[in-house]
Amino acid sequence: MRQLAMVIDLNKCIGCQTCTLACKSQWTDRGGREFMYWNHVETEPGKGYPRDWKNAGGGWEGEQLRPGRLPRLHEDYGYPAEFNYEEALFEPTEKPLRPIQEMQWGPNWEEDQGAGEFPNSYFFYLPRLCNHCTKPACLAACPRQAIYKREEDGIVLIDQDRCRGYRYCVAACPYKKIYFNPTTGMSEKCIFCYPRVERGTPPACAYQCVGRARHVSYLDDREGPVHRLVNEWKVALPLLPQHGTQPNVYYVPPLSPPAFDADGRPGDKPRLPENYLEELFGPGVHDALATLEAEIERKGRGEASEVLDILIAYRHGDMFRLDRG
Ligand code: SF4
Ligand code: SF4
Repeated sequence: MRQLAMVIDLNKCIGCQTCTLACKSQWTDRGGREFMYWNHVETEPGKGYPRDWKNAGGGWEGEQLRPGRLPRLHEDYGYPAEFNYEEALFEPTEKPLRPIQEMQWGPNWEEDQGAGEFPNSYFFYLPRLCNHCTKPACLAACPRQAIYKREEDGIVLIDQDRCRGYRYCVAACPYKKIYFNPTTGMSEKCIFCYPRVERGTPPACAYQCVGRARHVSYLDDREGPVHRLVNEWKVALPLLPQHGTQPNVYYVPPLSPPAFDADGRPGDKPRLPENYLEELFGPGVHDALATLEAEIERKGRGEASEVLDILIAYRHGDMFRLDRG
């Protein structure tokens, strides 16, 4: 089985949500999908979307599926609001444009809040999509065998003819990246833009990324950016690998500015706590950050650095290798 995979460089993501809109306008803007974000970008640290997904269970404990809970539509996902357009825009009133219902949560509810005390407060952006896992808990949890993983590219899909909307997959995914569509009564998820991929065009989120933060290639393509960054340089790591699903979206972890000391001067400790980054990306995060820092210094001395050249992405086209061989 081949595996198409993605690397997202968190040092280049600016949280612009272009990827989110590229996905939403293409796949989830109607038909019961309005609340779904197959791709979204959340602020870390934070509860994220759906709310508190990191504590919702799912994934594997050895060879057993770990129980997970279902996010609730309004409380955990949030639902697109109706606004007082008539009143605010077409009537002689000073009333501002506001949602009509009281909203409880939504994507980016806590955007840019982060954590820490000024001047050592910190945050970064974390784009999230289905990881098209090598050991997908969603697939294992489905009693209808409606979820399958394609041999030719490892993309995980839901057969809409077989799905009966039991939602075991939603509970089982530790990333909460499968959604139940209340209009169709079936579950849906990111399809890694397979109709584009089959034509040699990258997924919309990656192709439209203005930060040039996303690389896409097959893991076994030794010249591809994903193989170079994940297997050769080991600077890109899966999110929450402890869930055991073996994700195929990898992240270049965020480098930290120095924390200010008691005199208000930049000290020698990083502002982003490294134990927190280890919780997110596993123990390999320390070596990955050390490699990145060493390579930045090399580049600064005018020496060659393959890994930085890949990450800088001088040419957009070099970020994607989708030749199906
Ligand atoms: Fe399944 Fe979740 Fe993995 Fe996607 S991220 S393949 S939905 S377990
Ligand atoms: Fe980040 Fe790129 Fe998405 Fe913008 S388009 S939020 S830079 S991943």
